[in-house]
Amino acid sequence: MKKTVAIYGNPIQQSLSPDMHNLAFKLLDLNYHYSAYDIIPENLEAGINAIRVLDFAGANITIPHKEKVIKFLDYVDPRASAIGAVNTIVNKNGYLSGYNTDGDGYLHSLEEELNIKLSKQKIMVIGAGGAARAIIYCLLEKKLEDVYIFNRSIAKAENLASDFANYGHLNILEVSKAVDKIAGMDIIINTSPVGMFPDLDQSPIDCELIHSKQIVSDIIYNPLKTKLLIQAEKKSAKIHNGVGMLVHQGALAFKLWTGLDAPITEMYELVKGKLLEQNKRKY
Ligand code: NAP
Repeated sequence: MKKTVAIYGNPIQQSLSPDMHNLAFKLLDLNYHYSAYDIIPENLEAGINAIRVLDFAGANITIPHKEKVIKFLDYVDPRASAIGAVNTIVNKNGYLSGYNTDGDGYLHSLEEELNIKLSKQKIMVIGAGGAARAIIYCLLEKKLEDVYIFNRSIAKAENLASDFANYGHLNILEVSKAVDKIAGMDIIINTSPVGMFPDLDQSPIDCELIHSKQIVSDIIYNPLKTKLLIQAEKKSAKIHNGVGMLVHQGALAFKLWTGLDAPITEMYELVKGKLLEQNKRKY
């Protein structure tokens, strides 16, 4: 019988993870199947118990359950605990361990796709939500000292900076001062949903100050090129979209369930193809 890996989210029908992981299981000839389950918040605890009862190999957890799931697990990896969110669960004989592969997945994607090493760059992160927390935690772990958070709500950025005070210093940018700082950044990372389908004409910052020596990264993958990335490309900046983060966080989860390296190139091509197909139907 095939071992199940589940993904729990609400909504979940849009997720590309089942196609991506089922392709990986097939290519490696593994006896696993990945299934999506729409779990409303009231059913999260029962859903987590089902992993034990039905002996699933593990699960991915996505919006809106990444934070709330922590209290139902037997063990939470200290990094996931610091980030405050779990996106991957491993089941060993009913003992459930939680991990967060989002931040590592993002940094692997950025470094590999652009062939760079993160060391001393000045980085501006737009947004202070769940994805920003995972990414910023990993940036601080790499001892990056010039990290700036630019968020709509200053209080949320301040909370993030105070939660992470033990791992490093974060600079908080107020809206009025952010504009002056843009040109001085080496890397700009959008983690806000601004520019995501269907809001294609929106950008989280004024792109006029972007220049050719910068890297502009957007973790949105639908569309593949947000307005921010289109404008950055026009300025000859290097651009990076969210497909790689999706694939690499999935590859790290795959390794936790199976112990094996995932076929990243094939997963990437599949996800990109599916998104191009979806976009053709939408526009
Ligand atoms: P989240 O926890 O809800 O955080 C969203 C952040 O964006 C908040 O800081 C929020 O600011 C800011 N924001 C939201 N709407 C805004 C607006 N209209 N103008 C300015 N700022 C706004 O969401 P998340 O889980 O971090 O996800 C954020 C985005 O990342 C989504 O688009 C998601 O699809 C994408 N994502 C991609 C991947 C991937 O694999 N590529 C993985 C995870 C997430 P306030 O604090 O002021 O509310």
